[in-house]
Amino acid sequence: MTYKDLIKMTIEEGYIGKDFTCNGTCSKCGECCGAILPLDQEDVDKISEYVLENKIHSIAATLILENKLQCPYYTGNKEKGCAIYPARPKICKFYKCDKKGISLEEINEMQKAVPVDMWKLAKDLDKNIERKIRNEERGRRGK
Ligand code: SF4
Ligand code: SF4
Repeated sequence: MTYKDLIKMTIEEGYIGKDFTCNGTCSKCGECCGAILPLDQEDVDKISEYVLENKIHSIAATLILENKLQCPYYTGNKEKGCAIYPARPKICKFYKCDKKGISLEEINEMQKAVPVDMWKLAKDLDKNIERKIRNEERGRRGK
């Protein structure tokens, strides 16, 4: 599968035939937030750094029944939307359901993308956050 196939698949899976925006503004409904996203290393590094610095757990840490069809960084809440919005990957920046696709320029920016299981990434990052918190507590006790 080429990265272009992957991007196409991501858009088709996220797109279910409706414009969910409010007159072109994203309503943060999460309908396009899939569990497998095309990410490159830059996207992964940015997300990792952001969640670790801000100690943002994914919803994988709190859900009893996991909805594994949706990205674990979607808060499930239209007010809050994406929990990692400032560090969201390129595909999330480029895609909006009212435009039904992304431009060639944007596709070219994602040439190094590979399919990433967001649940696996989120669970690994959640563990790193826990480790950081434990180390900080240990450091405080040692003082
Ligand atoms: S871009 Fe995604 S989150 Fe925003 S309104 Fe469309 S489907 Fe909902
Ligand atoms: S990173 Fe944020 S915007 Fe992108 S799919 Fe996940 S919740 Fe949606």
